Amino acid sequence: MAKRKDESKCSVTSCGEKAKRSFSLKNVQSALVKSGINIEGNPKRVYLCEKHYKAIKKELKKEKKTELMRHGLPF
Ligand SMILES: [Zn+2]
Repeated sequence: MAKRKDESKCSVTSCGEKAKRSFSLKNVQSALVKSGINIEGNPKRVYLCEKHYKAIKKELKKEKKTELMRHGLPF
């Protein structure tokens, strides 16, 4: 197995899985809260493993819709 130095771990409290994706905290913060997921500390960048990314994906989608409606776009 190849090891990578810059490998990141999931930022979720007591998870520690390999991170699949990263987001800026402000983009995912409310989705995390709604999903009941706690993040370690208060980082600018949040790393999520596949499992936790899936967990917030639904909330992220919902938020995107809300955002679009707020701007009055016809969706
Ligand atoms: Zn995780």
